Amino acid sequence: MLYLALMTLLLFTSSLEREVDRTVDEYLSQLDLDSIRYVVVVANRELQGAAVLHWVEAGKDSAVFFFDRELLLQLSKQERRVLIAHEVGHLAPQCQWGGSRIFRELCADRIASQFVPREDVAAMLAKSILMFPYYPAREEFMLRLAMIQEKRRISEEIEPTIARSSELPAQDAWIDCA
Ligand SMILES: [Zn+2]
Repeated sequence: MLYLALMTLLLFTSSLEREVDRTVDEYLSQLDLDSIRYVVVVANRELQGAAVLHWVEAGKDSAVFFFDRELLLQLSKQERRVLIAHEVGHLAPQCQWGGSRIFRELCADRIASQFVPREDVAAMLAKSILMFPYYPAREEFMLRLAMIQEKRRISEEIEPTIARSSELPAQDAWIDCA
């Protein structure tokens, strides 16, 4: 009986990892980023939330996506797609202009809303406020939710108010923890 339970857990676990991996692959492809070498790590502990570590070495892009297993299991399949869309969004070239962390977060949300409905991004951010109700995560999610709601209110996409600049170098390596 225990063996059966373990087998079921193992099968379910690997199907969760496959689902995450397939979704990452799907969104990278939609961004024309198939050339990025990446690994998906579904971690059992030590991490709350999700993160992506990205670096460029000898002209090749590499990325490691980390997802907390407990978090993934607390989300619906569509919510997982929103979370993954956001993490992949961080790798979009326009989201790597350097600058502040909050700017990168807003940019990744904007990319995510190309893959999943904007109202799903908003719902996920609202849920995140409840799941991570401490400073500074809560404030950051609230700001991101406000921005998404504002975009939902206006019928057309507005151009970012921060000018795109080729002067700003993309950071060599960074880690995102939201
Ligand atoms: Zn992020």
